[in-house]
Amino acid sequence: MNQAVYSSLKALHYHDRMSAMSAGRMPAPVHVRIKPTNVCNHNCYFCAYRTDDISLGEDMVVRDRIPQDKMREIVDDLIAMGVRAVTFSGGGEPLIYPYIAETIERLAAGGIKIASLTNGSRLKGKVADAVAAHATWIRVSIDGWDGPSYGEYRGVDADAFEDVMTNLADFSARGSDCVLGASVIVDERNAGHIVELCRRLKEAGAQHAKISPCIVSNAGEENNAYHAAFKDTVRAQISEARALDDHSFHVVDHYHDMEVDFAKPYRHCAFARVLTVIGADCKIYTCQDKAYTASGTLGSIADQSFREFWYGEENSQRLRDLNPAVACRHHCVADGKNRLLNDYLSLDPEHLPFV
Ligand code: SF4
Repeated sequence: MNQAVYSSLKALHYHDRMSAMSAGRMPAPVHVRIKPTNVCNHNCYFCAYRTDDISLGEDMVVRDRIPQDKMREIVDDLIAMGVRAVTFSGGGEPLIYPYIAETIERLAAGGIKIASLTNGSRLKGKVADAVAAHATWIRVSIDGWDGPSYGEYRGVDADAFEDVMTNLADFSARGSDCVLGASVIVDERNAGHIVELCRRLKEAGAQHAKISPCIVSNAGEENNAYHAAFKDTVRAQISEARALDDHSFHVVDHYHDMEVDFAKPYRHCAFARVLTVIGADCKIYTCQDKAYTASGTLGSIADQSFREFWYGEENSQRLRDLNPAVACRHHCVADGKNRLLNDYLSLDPEHLPFV
């Protein structure tokens, strides 16, 4: 049987967490996203954390990063709590964080699985050694298809494109078990260059390229209107790029219209109890969609440990008070997962045997 990598059902596998929630107790998160730093060496015009049109990151302070001692304390807590996976993401560029190799090694020694999103510019040296040795997957964000376009997207020198391709090729040549993927965010500029970019990624050793639409507005209708002008070009490019699919490379098609109805039919965010976000400002956020916003803030771990905070009354109260039907009338990447979790948690135990 084929084994699925992407699925909304994964959280249901953790019966201890489901039982804790059913009993009204706070489970340890299964998965934690850590934003180690908000500093970035690229300056992407579309970055969701730096674009005023999108509400992500309204409270983000660019110079924030998690102090080394605090990161060590967080790692010890996550291991002690039985957290199963950590993904590093932005804010900024996670692999620029000066203690990233040490953090990866400590997490791995504690049995936690690791992944990272990255722009790929620092995927070399001892950082690449740590990623190759310990990470399950890494996904490199890329948009320009050659030096000049890449430089324009990211406010960097045109040479940076070939530097990243070299990093990918060198990383791939290690033959590590870490899955090397790419994330291609499509806008009007690169819509006609997807085949060209996928070919370069495959040549550089990427194992898949995930194609997704850029988000230009929190309003689904506005996004869909923006993409309507070049949607046919993208569909044709993706179909042509699929000719590159083989045992070593896949095009993953996530290019679709954004939903326009953000109403949530549930009153509790169960998903925020199994996946949480630690920001570079040492605050805990409900999720990626609400990171660095007041409405997504659960509390701060600046003066207490993550473990104390997570199991404390402030966190429980904040999560109890959060009603997605009211507070989350916007895009939520976990909506499908929340619908499943809420269904599962509403099952009547007396009737479970009647499968
Ligand atoms: S946006 Fe989604 S994941 Fe985030 S708090 Fe709301 S319902 Fe939960």
